[in-house]
Amino acid sequence: MATECGAGRAKPRKRGSTMGGLGPSTPYNHAMRILIANDDGYLAPGLQALVQACHGLGEIDVVAPEQNASGTSNSLTLNRPLSVFRAANGYRYINGTPSDCVHVALTGLLPHRPDLVLSGINNGANMGDDTLYSGTVAAAMEGFLFGIPAIAFSLLDKGWQELDAAARVARSLVEQVLRSPLVGAPWLLNVNIPNRPDADRAAVAVTRLGRRHASEPVIRQVNPRGEAIYWIGPAGDAREAGAGTDFHATAQGKVSVTPLQVDLTDHEALVAWNARLACAARDAA
Ligand code: MN
Repeated sequence: MATECGAGRAKPRKRGSTMGGLGPSTPYNHAMRILIANDDGYLAPGLQALVQACHGLGEIDVVAPEQNASGTSNSLTLNRPLSVFRAANGYRYINGTPSDCVHVALTGLLPHRPDLVLSGINNGANMGDDTLYSGTVAAAMEGFLFGIPAIAFSLLDKGWQELDAAARVARSLVEQVLRSPLVGAPWLLNVNIPNRPDADRAAVAVTRLGRRHASEPVIRQVNPRGEAIYWIGPAGDAREAGAGTDFHATAQGKVSVTPLQVDLTDHEALVAWNARLACAARDAA
């Protein structure tokens, strides 16, 4: 393993570019450029399967965390510098989070802006409220936040048993989105794939996120020094899993595709809160 100096390969930075030196994408006069990340780490079978699934679709760069960083959501490492290493298979890996990987790739490491950012294939589902905690979704979201179309892929059950079928699903979806030009407003898709050998023959359902019950309580233990320690408990079961949700579609053996947005504003509550806080201000006057 060797530390790679990204600046050595990067082209000179253009003044005024919004991409920290990466010029605007020109998708029609070059091979499609695909950046692939994950949250399970650069050695994860799911990452390798996704990279192999995309073979022939474009120029692929892999930038993934050095270690498993599941559940790290959109965190960026701000209290120490990050190093980029190159594995024997050509993948780059970073001693940081999934968001770090895509952030560093887009703002200083890659000589070109990617046309598409992919993440996964995650070891386990990312449905409903999971999407707020997921490093897999976060890696894709980092690309989306930089204006690049992005897809997060997750395999429903842990263990990657039917990874080959999941990879075929991923390839098929990527091929479908590449059929139309990747211009205009970026989008972010969250894909959950049933863990079955015929997943690539399953129907694809476009879904909304369901909701989970609150997580199970923390598990309290005592460490060898007699001090209390706590393990975060497992995620709650599905609470809102009706027709149209990701939980519902995957329970029926379908591939779930949920278009995501990032704006957390409760738009419907704006008027009510305006009235409520205006009243409070009037009462205080
Ligand atoms: Mn993971």
